[in-house]
This record gives sequence, C-alpha cells and structure tokens, in this order.
Amino acid sequence: MKRVNFIKTTLLSGVAFAVLPQLSFTHYQYIYTRDQLIGKGNFDFSGTDFKMQKDTFNSFIKMKVAAIKENIDIEVVSAYRSFKQQKIIFEDKYLQYTEQGLIPSEAISKIIEYSTIPGTSRHHWGTDVDIIDANTPRPKNVLETKHFHGDGPYCNLKEWLSRNANSFGFYEVYTDTLNRKGFKYEPWHFSYAPASKPMLQAYKKLDIKKILQEENISGSEYFTDSFISKYKNENILDINPKLL
Ligand SMILES: [Zn+2]
Repeated sequence: MKRVNFIKTTLLSGVAFAVLPQLSFTHYQYIYTRDQLIGKGNFDFSGTDFKMQKDTFNSFIKMKVAAIKENIDIEVVSAYRSFKQQKIIFEDKYLQYTEQGLIPSEAISKIIEYSTIPGTSRHHWGTDVDIIDANTPRPKNVLETKHFHGDGPYCNLKEWLSRNANSFGFYEVYTDTLNRKGFKYEPWHFSYAPASKPMLQAYKKLDIKKILQEENISGSEYFTDSFISKYKNENILDINPKLL
C-alpha cells in the first residue's frame, strides 16, 4: 500500500516537473516588455546576418529547406531591426523629403507609404522578414512589387509562398487587398503568426503617442492625436486579418 502511494507521489511530482518548465516557457512567451515591443529590448535571437526570435527562425529554416526542393532559394534581406536603425531610416527620409520642398506633414505621409515610424515597426519584434529568391538574377532594387508579378524574377517565389508559407506559420502582412489602408502592398514582407500575434496584442496596449513624443524623433511635433489614431488603425492594424 505504502509502495503504491510512493509511486503515485513520484509520478505526480514527475508530471509536475515535466509540465512546469513548459508552463513557465509559454507564460514567458506572452509577456513582453515595452522595450522589446518598440525595438529597444533583447530577445533570445537566432540567426547571424539577420536576427529573428528562435521559434520564427526555426520555422523559417524549415520553410527554406522545403522551398529549395522546388528550386527556390529564399533569402532574407531584412529581419529584426532595432529602434535605432529604424530612426536612422525615418530621419534620413524626413530630411530628404523636406529638403526637396515637402512640408513636414507631407513628408511624413510619403515616408509612411512603405516605412514605419521608429518604435512602430513589426521588424522590431524579430518575427517578420523581408524575403526574395536568391536563385534568380538580382534586380537593382529588390523590394519592388513588379518583381513579384508578371514575368518578374520573384514570381516563382511569390507563387510558392502563396501555396506553402501558411503551413509554416508565415503570412503576408501588407496584402494586395482592395480598400486596405496603411502601408502599401509588400509581397516580400512575411510574419510568423504564432509569435507576432501575441506581440501585436501586447503592442496595442502601449501609449504610442507618449512613446513617440519621448523619443524626440524628427517631425514628432506633427504626431497629433488624430494622426496617431489614424496611423494605429490603418498602418498598424489594417493588415492581413490572419495576423490580428
Ligand atoms: Zn518588411
């Protein structure tokens, strides 16, 4: 009798030990710091030239291996990007457009056709990638929609991704959907949904206006309440519904 009890207790604690690390891991996955959400924090990154969160990276590699079998060599041109890197991109464009004579609000509107305001990029999360096919002659500017359509060099990639990316957890973010607002169509930008969906939920709770004002970004005096609310609804949330 005693022996049976002992076995039961041992089994139970065995189960507890087996389950607990997993529980705490899952728990950890869904808690993000403000800094992580805005590109100033650290993750347990994988990848050398291009960094991604571990789960995103592992799934990406599986997808890449599958694509190679069909003669497509998926190459990453951008993955994780820090706040600092995004700030340089944004402020360079701001300077360029205002020097060309655009007023600040016009310059900002033009920038946010394709580029994000630092602190608001999905590339800050280590879950999103911009990809092309390395197995075809490389055009001068790789990230142009025309390369993914017609007889463009990335048509095979585009076609393969639309058949297979979802099964690896990857979804196109800025789809070519009629009446979608926010960022323009980006056939190269994919997000690993299991990791990015909870991050978006956490991100939605941040006070974006306050964060952007604190960061002293060029043009931030034009980030009014109505601008921020529109940016949030259109640029951040008007994306592929599979990622919401
Ligand atoms: Zn991108």
